[in-house]
Amino acid sequence: MIQIDASWTLFLDRDGVINNEIKDGYVLSWDMFRFEEGVLAALPPLADKFGRIVMVTNQRCIGKGLLTEQGLHDIHAKMLAVITDQGGRIDKIYYCPDLDNDSPCRKPNEGMALQAKADFPDIDFSRSIMVGNTLSDMKFGKDKGMTTVFIPSTKPELAFPHPLMDYRCKGLLEFSEIIQ
Ligand SMILES: [Mg+2]
Repeated sequence: MIQIDASWTLFLDRDGVINNEIKDGYVLSWDMFRFEEGVLAALPPLADKFGRIVMVTNQRCIGKGLLTEQGLHDIHAKMLAVITDQGGRIDKIYYCPDLDNDSPCRKPNEGMALQAKADFPDIDFSRSIMVGNTLSDMKFGKDKGMTTVFIPSTKPELAFPHPLMDYRCKGLLEFSEIIQ
């Protein structure tokens, strides 16, 4: 169990955590977006427990010219409408459109964590949990002193225990069940 209170922030990766990741491709339209199993049931209890919930997502498809920023905003507006309708909440979405791994906003680099902290100065990284499905997500969280939770949706072969992973949960629903 992870003991938290309303001073805690949840950082959520998107692809492979909230929605099915498309192998060797990208979600380029709403009809390609499929929620991962259990996510819509998990988000309402998480919304009750976490003071703040933000999404941090690398979206290289924009830098590649496969999707416009407006196209991404449209997908996110529809995603948020469903989540909100089900009683969940995501307070703000941060995305990195850049191709370059050295881009300061591209996870595992810290840019999106700093943007969130600038928007919500009360965010305390030591009272934050990063949930993601890649080692890049885990490094992003660990580098800022967050608790990390690995979801093995696309990389089930990664060993656990692992120095970058504090917990491993099958999906967001199982994660919501270990939050107290
Ligand atoms: Mg992901």
